[in-house]
Amino acid sequence: MANIGYIQMVRHCNQNCGFCSNPETPFFHNLEQIHQIVDDFVSRDYFGVIMTGGEPTLSPILPEAIAHARANGLHVRMITNGQKLADWDYCKSLADAGLQHVHVSIHSHKHKLEDFLTGTPGSLDWAEKALTNLGKTNITVNINTVINRYNCDHLHENIEWFIQNFPFIRHFVWNNLDPSIGRATSNQYFTARLQDIEVSLSKAMRMLAETGRSFRVERVPLCYMTEFAHCSTETRKIVKSEERIVHFLDNKGTVRQTEWGHLYADVCNVCSLRSICGGLFDRGNAYDPNELSPIFSDPKPIIQRIVQDLQSDPAWRMAKFKNLAAIPAAHQGKSGAQQSVTGGEVSRPGKVQAPTGERLTEMAMDPKRKTDHTARDWTPETAGWHPSDDEDDVDTGLVVPPEPVAIGRVPASRLEVRSGQE
Ligand code: SF4
Repeated sequence: MANIGYIQMVRHCNQNCGFCSNPETPFFHNLEQIHQIVDDFVSRDYFGVIMTGGEPTLSPILPEAIAHARANGLHVRMITNGQKLADWDYCKSLADAGLQHVHVSIHSHKHKLEDFLTGTPGSLDWAEKALTNLGKTNITVNINTVINRYNCDHLHENIEWFIQNFPFIRHFVWNNLDPSIGRATSNQYFTARLQDIEVSLSKAMRMLAETGRSFRVERVPLCYMTEFAHCSTETRKIVKSEERIVHFLDNKGTVRQTEWGHLYADVCNVCSLRSICGGLFDRGNAYDPNELSPIFSDPKPIIQRIVQDLQSDPAWRMAKFKNLAAIPAAHQGKSGAQQSVTGGEVSRPGKVQAPTGERLTEMAMDPKRKTDHTARDWTPETAGWHPSDDEDDVDTGLVVPPEPVAIGRVPASRLEVRSGQE
């Protein structure tokens, strides 16, 4: 399996994103602990490791940690806000240590909005310098974007901007906001409705596909990305039977996730994609099951497409998926393990493994730091950013592809109107 593990290097950060899923704690991993974790990933035959945080570049042992993981055969990646990589010498030092791939988190190409989202004036300027520096190394670069209420209307404009300014970036990752953990639990106003995401996300995905780029989307149900269902992170994990281990620097401890379904509504029970769909991410009760609509199309082409992608993925051992027949029957368009509906609205399959607090290794602690999950006491309005504030909008001259047509989808709202008329 092409499994990838995560190590939180530190939990403090040089940004203050309002929806941060892993805000500050006093803990960090020292080099001895990193060695233990890396050895464990290697013994499990994991393909790679992602150094994350907090902001991993604030860990003084990051270069040594990268070198150790690389020397032990792991593909070494990092998720970063890019602030420190704006320094060329530092950027180069990580490349020299063996870093192979970086996910830079950027949520909007609009400077003022990005300042607001990251709680850090000038954050986009630093991130741009980081991308320029990374472009001079042999480290490959992805962009990670958290979909939220304030950027969900211009995800496609972000993509135009990246294509125009950083054409070497070939892969993008969208994570729909997780409203159930970290700072987002206090700042619920960041959560977008699925309906508000759909149009811009569809345009953005089309644009990437038409320019030969790739992408993944996490925590968006397949009924909101039917045309690109094969790019759903959950769907790919389900089809490939992948897992991931995260070493958190908080009371969650070491979490191994082997199941990728979230919550399912009544309508999911008649949906043909139920067995390969992650459903509604609703651990924070922020997303509305009434926004889901069943799909009535064959899931096999989606599965076949994922299998085809594996053939060009050097990380994947092809033996298991040489043809569609090798895919577990549960993923071949059969109903799969349908969950009973409880509470009248959503079923709770219990697939996401609850953190137990157990951990592979101890955490070190910095007494100068404390846990900070507090809400931000400022809003877009008090921060001086307003949705009509478009001075940073850039006309890149690229043509936005037409809106894609959803396949086999009947919006629940339309069904409701019809039944009312009848
Ligand atoms: S209706 Fe349910 S199972 Fe079908 S695509 Fe939407 S969330 Fe997934």
